[in-house]
Amino acid sequence: MTKTEQILQRLVSFPTVSRDSNLALIEYIKSYLDDLGIESTLIFNDGKNKANLYASFGPVDSPGVMLSGHTDVVPIDGQNWTVEPFTMSEKEDRLYGRGTTDMKGFIAAVLAAVPDAMELDLKRSIHLAFSYDEEIGCVGVRSMVDMLESAPNKPAFCIVGEPTEMKAAVAHKGKTGAICVCRGVEAHSALTTSGLNAIYLASDMINVIRDIQEGLKSGSSDHHYDVPYSTLHVGTIEGGTALNIIPRECLFRFEIRNLKSDDPEGILTEIRQKAQAIVDQYSEQFPEAGISIDVFNQYPALDTSPEEEVVRLVQSLIDSDEILKLGFGTEGGLFQHRLGVPTVVCGPGSMDQGHKPDEFVSRAQLGKCDQFLKNLIRQMV
Ligand SMILES: [Zn+2]
Repeated sequence: MTKTEQILQRLVSFPTVSRDSNLALIEYIKSYLDDLGIESTLIFNDGKNKANLYASFGPVDSPGVMLSGHTDVVPIDGQNWTVEPFTMSEKEDRLYGRGTTDMKGFIAAVLAAVPDAMELDLKRSIHLAFSYDEEIGCVGVRSMVDMLESAPNKPAFCIVGEPTEMKAAVAHKGKTGAICVCRGVEAHSALTTSGLNAIYLASDMINVIRDIQEGLKSGSSDHHYDVPYSTLHVGTIEGGTALNIIPRECLFRFEIRNLKSDDPEGILTEIRQKAQAIVDQYSEQFPEAGISIDVFNQYPALDTSPEEEVVRLVQSLIDSDEILKLGFGTEGGLFQHRLGVPTVVCGPGSMDQGHKPDEFVSRAQLGKCDQFLKNLIRQMV
C-alpha cells in the first residue's frame, strides 16, 4: 500500500457520519501533524463533540494555498453494503469504504504529501482546512470561515478536494433549504365549509413553486450544467392527523438550487408574495390562516473566473484545459463568497460512487492525486 492508501485506511476506520462525533479522526490528524512539528488549531462546535482543524506551515505570513476537505461522511442506514463500510477493503484497483471517494481519499493524499513538503524550502504557505458537518449543508466550516475572515493572512487561493476525477471544476450552484408551514382551521370533515384545509393551502403553494420552476426554465441558463437553469424542488411533506378531520397544519420542505446569476432571495420574495395572496383569499373568514416560509440552510454558488491564477495553475498541474461545473455543492462557495478566496474543486474519485453502498475510490485516482499534490507543492518553492 502507498502512504496515501495507509492513511486512507485509518481515516475510513473512524465512522464520522455527520450526526456523530469526528473528534477521534481530528485527534489522529492533529497528532500526525504534531509529529511533523505542525501546530493545529481546532475550532469546536457548541456541543464540543465535533471540530474543524486548521493548520499552516511554510512561511505563514506569505499568501499560499489552502487545501480543503470535509471529514464527515453520509450515513449507511438502509443501504445494502456487501463490504464493511468502516473497514477499508481492496479488490483489484479499488479501495472500498464509506468516505473513500467523498472525501477522505483527498485528505489522505494531502496528509501523505506533508512530510515531503516540509523538507522543501517553501516560499509560499500551505494551509490545511478540514471541516465537519459538510454533508448537512456546509454547516461546520462556517466557524472556520469566521476565523479566517478576521485572520491577518488569508490564503491566496483554495483547492477543495471533492471528487472530480482530478479535473478542474470552477463552479456549482448555490442551495437554499426552506420550510413552508401552512396553517388552516380544524373542523369535522363532513363540515367542509367550517374549516380551512391546510393541505389545500400547501398544495396551492406547491403549485406556486412548480410555476416558478417553469418560468426559470426560460430564464438564465448555463449549459455547462446537466440542468442548465436554476431549479426548485419539494422534498418532504407532512400534514393532517385523521381522515375525518380537516387538517389544521401542513408543512413541506423545499430547496432552490440557483445559478450564480439568479438571486435566491428574489425567488423567496416571489414565493412569499404569492403565499400572502393565497392567505388573503381566506383571512376574512379564517383570521387564523397563515403561511410562513423559513430558510433553514443556505450556501452560495461557486463561480470562479477561468482567468484566476488558481484555475491556470490547476490546469497546468493536471495538464488539461477542460473546465467542469458541478452538479453538487461544496464549501468552495463560502470560501469565495465570504473570504474572496478564488477556489477550484479538484479531487480524486467520482461522485458517481459517493453517497452509495460499496463506495470506492480507485488506486489510479489516488495516484493521480498524489502526483498532483507533489507538482503543486513544487510550485510553492
Ligand atoms: Zn463531499
